[in-house]
Amino acid sequence: MSTAYKMLVNGQWVEAKSGKTFGVTNPATEESLGTVPEAGPEDLDLAVKAARAALEGPWGKMSAADRGRLIWKAGELLLARIDDLSKLETANQGKPIFESSKIDLPWSAGCYQYFAGWATKIYGDTVTVGAGSFNFTLKEPVGVIGAIVPWNFPILIATWKLAPALAAGCTVVLKPASNTPITALKLGEIFTDAGFPPGVVNVITGPGSKTGAAMATHPGIDKISFTGSTESGVKLMQECAPSLKRITLELGGKSPSLVFADADLDAAVRGATGGIFFNKGEMCSAGSRLLVEDKVYDTVVTKLTERTAKLLQGDPMDPKVRVGPQTSDAQRKSILAYIASGKEQGAKVVAGGEPFSVNGKGFFVKPTIFAEVKPAMKIAQEEIFGPVLAVMRFKDAEEAVRVANDTCYGLAAAVWTNDVKKAHRAARALKAGTVWVNTYGLNDPAVPFGGYKQSGFGRDLGRECLESYLQTKAVWMDLS
Ligand code: NAD
Repeated sequence: MSTAYKMLVNGQWVEAKSGKTFGVTNPATEESLGTVPEAGPEDLDLAVKAARAALEGPWGKMSAADRGRLIWKAGELLLARIDDLSKLETANQGKPIFESSKIDLPWSAGCYQYFAGWATKIYGDTVTVGAGSFNFTLKEPVGVIGAIVPWNFPILIATWKLAPALAAGCTVVLKPASNTPITALKLGEIFTDAGFPPGVVNVITGPGSKTGAAMATHPGIDKISFTGSTESGVKLMQECAPSLKRITLELGGKSPSLVFADADLDAAVRGATGGIFFNKGEMCSAGSRLLVEDKVYDTVVTKLTERTAKLLQGDPMDPKVRVGPQTSDAQRKSILAYIASGKEQGAKVVAGGEPFSVNGKGFFVKPTIFAEVKPAMKIAQEEIFGPVLAVMRFKDAEEAVRVANDTCYGLAAAVWTNDVKKAHRAARALKAGTVWVNTYGLNDPAVPFGGYKQSGFGRDLGRECLESYLQTKAVWMDLS
């Protein structure tokens, strides 16, 4: 069934003014899922004007408690639609239905409900100054937010931007990635159904190089909140520079997990396979480098291959499937090129290492593990963004931390050990925005998430992220 989707601008479902559209594909079947509008400058302009009018009108004038109630309602409506939205997410993104229905959708609902509570808890300070004056600070919304999000967690990452921005009192123009736009448009329905005033949330679709870049230079957008690749983040920052537009960047990663010999090795192997094969490795925080202490290296590699062999790959709509197709053919090709480079540079394939299909269709790559990887190899340095694990050896904690920190990224890391001192020391020494100890991938809307180094700056989630959607005004009054 082919559907012609429309965009959400000022509370209306519209086509692009140019009438242009582009197609969206199901990565498991390679069938068309329909078309979405290709937003041009005129459409962006209308969306930004609507967001500004809502900011200065009904949204700006609404009480914080009422805003919070609406945000909470968005979470409730999302929970009520887990079934249809998770099917659409899986159809468009390729992630197993198990993940979209048990993780992406419930976590998104929880995120709206967490930030709903913040709407009424934003306040400034009174500041002690000289006796002749009175000073207080106001916390005001930054304004119109341009949220640009990637294709790996279409609903969840859109939510990570929308929920805090709305709690802070901002309005939003959301642009999903061009290959996964459908559920972002459906998210638009949640806001209209919940009763948000028109223009508070606008969803426009189009390619990053045109629509996304136009958002960065649009004078009516006050801040860009971006999640995507480091390469696009650099371009966006350059595009934002001439107008000094605010920007926060959540970028790529090459996250290391350190497995010490004293660890619970079965737990470490469960964490490592989940850390790399969840969402078929299309995860900014994928645990793509596993550093294992020499004396347990062979045991860990054997356990990894055994566990990986049991992962069911196939039709992502099957609730038993744990590894779906990559989101696009381009992504599959890029991953296969990395696999070829790993082989050429002398790493040893101990699982997968090749493409896969279901009835000759789908952009699948088999869950792949490379052993005997050296830290300088391309597969140990660059973000592959696919189901490819690079397993390396280390002799002691000093070497493990040095190798772990030796990439340009710093998004996440993990430590597996039963020695509490070793765990604390490693957690401090690792240069990453998140460190998991004896677990992998835990996430909560209350906990800030973001990168060190070239994994970006600013944080999603938690109180810390709320600050990035607020600005502070200092007010002085003469008492003399
Ligand atoms: P991408 O950078 O190609 O695209 C992300 C978004 O930016 C898309 O909406 C795209 O259309 C848009 N875009 C691309 N070029 C642009 C430009 N010049 N100006 C404005 N917008 C532009 O990333 P992707 O391939 O969709 O996603 C994968 C990347 O996202 C990986 O590197 C991954 O690590 C990263 N990621 C990071 C996090 C995090 O929280 N740090 C989370 C998820 C994904």
